[in-house]
Amino acid sequence: LRLPIKCPNCRSVVELPPTGVDALPTNVSLRAIIEKYQMDNEPRPPSCQEHHRHPLNMYCIQDRQLICGLCLTVGQHQGHPIDDLQAAFIREKQTPSLLLARLSEQRWAQVCELAEQLDQDKARCEALVRQDRQEVDQFFHLLEGILARKKHAYLEALDKAAAEVSLAYDPLIHRVKELQEEQLDLVSLGSSVEDEDSPLVFLEQVHSFRERGD
Ligand SMILES: [Zn+2]
Ligand SMILES: [Zn+2]
Repeated sequence: LRLPIKCPNCRSVVELPPTGVDALPTNVSLRAIIEKYQMDNEPRPPSCQEHHRHPLNMYCIQDRQLICGLCLTVGQHQGHPIDDLQAAFIREKQTPSLLLARLSEQRWAQVCELAEQLDQDKARCEALVRQDRQEVDQFFHLLEGILARKKHAYLEALDKAAAEVSLAYDPLIHRVKELQEEQLDLVSLGSSVEDEDSPLVFLEQVHSFRERGD
């Protein structure tokens, strides 16, 4: 059965060849348009920076980046585990919620325990510091008491020494002053005797002057 077909381009009627549609001449310009359209619809992956024109169409699991075939076979990612980006994306889709769940249970308990531990440690250290402080305070209080008693004892001894100095020197100083005064009296008496005109009075005065001078 051969069907006549009308060419959509030149509108001439032809029979379908026995080998089928593929035997018909190709509308090259239409095919180019279709191919262009298909290419635009499916965006090409970007090219590798290191390997010219090789598309980044693989995902390196180890380095978490897109790589090309040469990166995997001869480049920096030789032997690295790889996957399809979309597959890796779907596989890891549940991971954040799983991590979040673990975080909110186990981790939260750990953090709480740590906080409590830190509080206890801090309180213990503060208590130690307080105790040391009290001991230092007491020690210096005691020391001040001892020093005050020592100071008092020394000052008392010095007061006593001062009193003894006074007791020893004051009578001597007093006696010497008396002698000085007596000598001054004698000097003035001597000068007044010299001026006496009456022989009797003069002789009497000389007598008492001599007695006092001895
Ligand atoms: Zn590459
Ligand atoms: Zn890698």
